[in-house]
Amino acid sequence: MTPDPWLASHSYLRPVADLSAEVDRAAAGIEVLDARIPDWDDYRADYLAGVTVLASADAGVDLEPGGRMVSALLERLASGTSSVAAEARALNAELRRGPQPSRRIAEFLLGDETFTPSSPGLLRYLGWTAMARFLRPVLNAFDGWRDEERWLRRYCPTCGSLPAMAQLVGVDPGRMRLLSCGCCGTRWQFKRTGCPFCETDAQRLASVTIDGEPGLRIDHCESCGGYLKTYDGQGNEGLLLSDWSSLHLDLIAYDRGLKRLAASLYEFEPVQIFNS
Ligand SMILES: [Zn+2]
Ligand SMILES: [Zn+2]
Repeated sequence: MTPDPWLASHSYLRPVADLSAEVDRAAAGIEVLDARIPDWDDYRADYLAGVTVLASADAGVDLEPGGRMVSALLERLASGTSSVAAEARALNAELRRGPQPSRRIAEFLLGDETFTPSSPGLLRYLGWTAMARFLRPVLNAFDGWRDEERWLRRYCPTCGSLPAMAQLVGVDPGRMRLLSCGCCGTRWQFKRTGCPFCETDAQRLASVTIDGEPGLRIDHCESCGGYLKTYDGQGNEGLLLSDWSSLHLDLIAYDRGLKRLAASLYEFEPVQIFNS
């Protein structure tokens, strides 16, 4: 499914869809730099111990070239006429004021808080958009090597983020739940029931289905009050796991007093359309 039929029935998502398309177009125009593919045997011990690829010295993936891709994306947006051009210009200027901007971007995306940009949400969004392109060959190789049964953790095995969404795939007895990283794009297996935020095994998730949205539901935990948007289906991952395409579900969850504990790249000003 392309975004168009989705937007025909969800016109309130148009601003965020337009921004997402604009940023994707700009990102498609930047040169993809080479990422080092880890020697997976070197990384195995860290993997079994729960260390993510990007946190593992033995995996040895250097994000600096990815940081350069983020800079290139910022420059492209800063010189254009998009709705985020002014903010991209400001971010660009702030990064140029200090040493090694590409290195600082990479560290910022991994959670370093010493760099405090004027638009942190936008930098996180644009940063991960470019960094995910840089990391794609690593993700593909990691998907081919990874023994899912040996991970089953609540955080992304590549970058360490909490999931943005979940997906149910397959049919019983092989039906399983994948968690989806909103940052780097990894999808990884997690236990079918249970909350990925508080990990209380005893707590089962309750489900809310939404009229007119057969493929989407909200799973929430009675213990911690966290919720996870879940795509129950296959084939439309690109659209339905994108997080922005289901921001209206966040509003429904919010109205029910649930807390978004999932990571989101859509928490910056231009798309806080539902909070106003
Ligand atoms: Zn990730
Ligand atoms: Zn919970």
